[in-house]
Amino acid sequence: LFYLMPPMRQLANVAAQYQVGAAAIARIREIESLPAEPRDPPTAAPVRTPAAVTFEEVHFRYRPDLPEIHHGVGFTIPAGGMTAFVGPSGAGKTTVFSLIERFYDPTAGRILLDGQDIQTLPLADLRTAIGYVEQDAPVLSGTLRENLLFGAPEAERELAEVLALTRLDALVNRLPDGLETPVGHRGVKLSGGERQRVAIARALLRHPRLLLLDEVTSQLDAVNEAALRETIADVTHTTTVLVVAHRLSTVTMADRIVVMDTGKVRAIGTHDQLLTQDPLYAELAATQLLAAAD
Ligand code: ADP
Ligand code: MG
Repeated sequence: LFYLMPPMRQLANVAAQYQVGAAAIARIREIESLPAEPRDPPTAAPVRTPAAVTFEEVHFRYRPDLPEIHHGVGFTIPAGGMTAFVGPSGAGKTTVFSLIERFYDPTAGRILLDGQDIQTLPLADLRTAIGYVEQDAPVLSGTLRENLLFGAPEAERELAEVLALTRLDALVNRLPDGLETPVGHRGVKLSGGERQRVAIARALLRHPRLLLLDEVTSQLDAVNEAALRETIADVTHTTTVLVVAHRLSTVTMADRIVVMDTGKVRAIGTHDQLLTQDPLYAELAATQLLAAAD
């Protein structure tokens, strides 16, 4: 019996330790259940909610001496979710985005953000609310970090996450000085697809209420396009996403599709609705969209 004593004592010690542990845990639970002192999280981001967008009978010409481009464009896009704009080249899709961003104002009709005419909003507030990734991502200059954080230095803490979302982490790892590598004319030349992904990452880091993506998948390979689709699905809770897209894989994931032709909205609906209801959409889906999807 004697030789059993040491293990018994150890067992008693374990039991004693356990009691201390259980008491400590009970105390922590008690503290946790106390109402928390209100304070900002150290990484508080501005609260952004998705914006609704309405075009009311918008007419537009680029110059008085040029023909009218939009002939009474109208649609309502609720807050959140993803809307795809499709239609032949020259239909006026990019012009829709330029008007939302207020590069130009309509010659007649109104554009509303959450029911408010955008011409009554301070331009800076409007532009802060919108992330616009243009059709041709411009050539960059400065370091990659400067390009990503331009206009949003506080976004630094989210950089790693957004780099992963846009699959730019592999590029960063490959560059000689990572994020500090100069890019563009005086630095490492980035491909069209890489520039597009930098532009998308920059837009995401600014947490827009409305994200406009104009043919950004055109220069992305299948893997990066699939990643972008996942990213879009991720952000549609906090951002209203509008895309001009050709690829069927992107268009079919949209909550609604706006079909444009010669400066007018032909039809609005889901992929399945439009396939049976709009011959132009059915044709686009069968030819241009599918062909572009490779
Ligand atoms: P989409 O994006 O559907 O291809 P756009 O909105 O780019 O169509 O163009 C619609 C029409 O407006 C086209 O006829 C185009 O030539 C014309 N357009 C586009 N941008 C300008 C501009 N800056 N100045 C004059 N005309 C323009
Ligand atoms: Mg366009």
